[in-house]
Amino acid sequence: MLTAHFNLNELSRSAIALRHGISNAPGPQEVYNLTRLAICILEPVRQHFNIPYSPSSAYRSPEVNRLAGSKPTSQHLSGHAADFKIPTIANRALADWIKTNLTFDQLILEFHHPDDPGSGWVHCSYHPDHNRNQCLIFDGTHYREF
Ligand SMILES: [Zn+2]
Repeated sequence: MLTAHFNLNELSRSAIALRHGISNAPGPQEVYNLTRLAICILEPVRQHFNIPYSPSSAYRSPEVNRLAGSKPTSQHLSGHAADFKIPTIANRALADWIKTNLTFDQLILEFHHPDDPGSGWVHCSYHPDHNRNQCLIFDGTHYREF
């Protein structure tokens, strides 16, 4: 366990890795970053909403990241970022709570459409050394700040 509610296994599992029979094992630096992410973002969110959830994606090895079609600069590669949503909670409400209450590097409402509260997911990254507190909404085409 990295925190009371999150373990390394769930932050490094990957359907893509399973499907392609490739490894998605983080190294020591990535494990450190995932631990900070769990302590500073995932666990406070879990404690506040008091609803169990598990990120759909956190660490991605270079090959998994490439197969996922993600950018080579993705913070998932270094274990700094996770994608998640919480059952019964609107993604905008989740993102707004993080924005107001936590320190983070980048917070993105991914593939979110305001007319559909459950659309998309929240991407949030935490950097042990510097955090920009940048907030973006991506509707599938454009990024804008919120
Ligand atoms: Zn992401």
